[in-house]
Amino acid sequence: MIEFRDVHKFYDKLHVIRGIDLSITKGEVVVICGPSGSGKSTLIRLVNQLEILSRGDILVDGQSVASLRSRSLRQLRTQIGFVFQQFNLYPHLTAEQNITLALRKVLSITPKDATLRAVELLERVGLADKRQAYPAQLSGGQQQRVAIARTLAMRPKILLFDEPTSALDPEMIGEVLTVMRDLATSGITMLVVTHEMGFARELADLVVFIDQGVILENAKPSDFFLSPQHPRTRQFLRQLL
Ligand code: ADP
Ligand code: MG
Repeated sequence: MIEFRDVHKFYDKLHVIRGIDLSITKGEVVVICGPSGSGKSTLIRLVNQLEILSRGDILVDGQSVASLRSRSLRQLRTQIGFVFQQFNLYPHLTAEQNITLALRKVLSITPKDATLRAVELLERVGLADKRQAYPAQLSGGQQQRVAIARTLAMRPKILLFDEPTSALDPEMIGEVLTVMRDLATSGITMLVVTHEMGFARELADLVVFIDQGVILENAKPSDFFLSPQHPRTRQFLRQLL
């Protein structure tokens, strides 16, 4: 579903992604971890071309993203959901309106059908009673669940998460992880940047450790946590304890 082929990214002279190869099969859940500044956000932003590749290519469902023109790029982006650390909800729209907006504007779904889909998804993330609430009236965990519902509403075939729980107070992390657990077992392909090693251990098919733009470890969770091969991985895991 996603194949990184010798992917490189430079910001001017700064070489932040330095030759990444990685294959993710349909339905797999892959957790990416690594120190701050190692290139995790850049790597997943490259998948939907929020950042432009410097070299190499990424195939999404067989399609090369390097060669996409703007129209196909827009189409690709509707198939890839992105959940950010900062939820990025529109403050002047209700939870329901945040979900229906793109459905109506981008997918041209009728208001009635868009509302039905929003209601269904708010229920799925445990917020059936918050349809009319504005972001400022919701906790961080609730806002992130609305953001996830909004992403799901587009019915993407791939979900990208960039540290979805890092901006949350500790007591709210669990409710977001519960939603992510539900998604991970639903069969959708997920690429998740997170430091939540409990999630990785329980739900990842593959855990990837990157450092300075290079993959140092790529293993099943059982191997990753029990016998990490690289000293940097061991050091990273120790720091998280
Ligand atoms: P991570 O998500 O692992 O913390 P990032 O992908 O955000 O790492 O950043 C990797 C490196 O690229 C860092 O050195 C960061 O400062 C740099 N970087 C990230 N985004 C930009 C940008 N837009 N312009 C210049 N440098 C950037
Ligand atoms: Mg980051």
